[in-house]
Amino acid sequence: MTPIYAQRHLLGTRSLTAPEITDLLDRADRYAAVNRSAEKKLAVLAGRTVVNLFYENSTRTRTSFELAAKRLGADVVNMQTGASSVAKGETLIDTAATLNAMHPDVLVVRHQDSGAVSLLSQKVNCAVVNAGDGKHEHPTQALLDALTIRRRKGRLAGLKVAICGDVLHSRVARSNIHLLAAMGAEVRLVAPRTLCIPGAESLGVSVFHDLRAGIADCDIVMMLRIQNERMSGGFIPSTREYFRFFGLDREKLAAAKPDALVMHPGPMNRGVEIDSDIADDVERSVIREQVEMGVAVRMAVLETLTLNLARGGDR
Ligand code: ASP
Repeated sequence: MTPIYAQRHLLGTRSLTAPEITDLLDRADRYAAVNRSAEKKLAVLAGRTVVNLFYENSTRTRTSFELAAKRLGADVVNMQTGASSVAKGETLIDTAATLNAMHPDVLVVRHQDSGAVSLLSQKVNCAVVNAGDGKHEHPTQALLDALTIRRRKGRLAGLKVAICGDVLHSRVARSNIHLLAAMGAEVRLVAPRTLCIPGAESLGVSVFHDLRAGIADCDIVMMLRIQNERMSGGFIPSTREYFRFFGLDREKLAAAKPDALVMHPGPMNRGVEIDSDIADDVERSVIREQVEMGVAVRMAVLETLTLNLARGGDR
């Protein structure tokens, strides 16, 4: 089946349309079923090479892309930037040109600078997937979140979704805002004033600075990690105080709908943005399911981009 998403790269969710998102989620749904079966190895990407190039630490995203590519039958190379020429001072573009000369089919790239992955995509012939660039975008995270929600709630349109916590430093928030808006969900940002996106209302979201008010009557409560590695200086007085006002516990969650689902992209800071009692409550938390759907979504993305390469993918 020809994919509806016809671009060569997947760099963000900002330009994704509802039919493109729906097609990617439908494909991922099928892969979710494959991943739950005993025989997981397919030949969709047989003969293809996927290179994971991660300039930032990652556990779940890198493993997830690796598993996704392997389950589709691709050869996978994981580049450790600490153990490569990057550590010797090679620039991003030189590294890209070097890898490009080896003819990979897909480069999966994570970089600490917003915009770096897009820049790199202009220098290579293969397909590029943004696996997170600075605080800009993390498209496969938003897709896996959407798949998790759609499977549980049966739809995205009309749902009230609260994205809560360190929104300012979050690429997960930005990618989710665009994708959820495209799918007709109502998005709220809930953050301390110091951790909100300035002028966020222009993105079509409503903004709250009180957790209970922000999640009131919501279907989905998506918590974000406090991203200390992207902060210089004091954005919050103390983690204890942060938990008191913005940490999700059972008492605050009572403000959301009784069947509201709790999400978190991981890694979690337990006791800072989320109480363990909620994070581990299988009736409310879909955090493990998000990880599961991550592999399925990445299989769908790799399949789509590889099919696009074969038909000369638009740029
Ligand atoms: N894993 C997600 C990311 O890479 C969320 C986080 O790190 O807090 O953006």
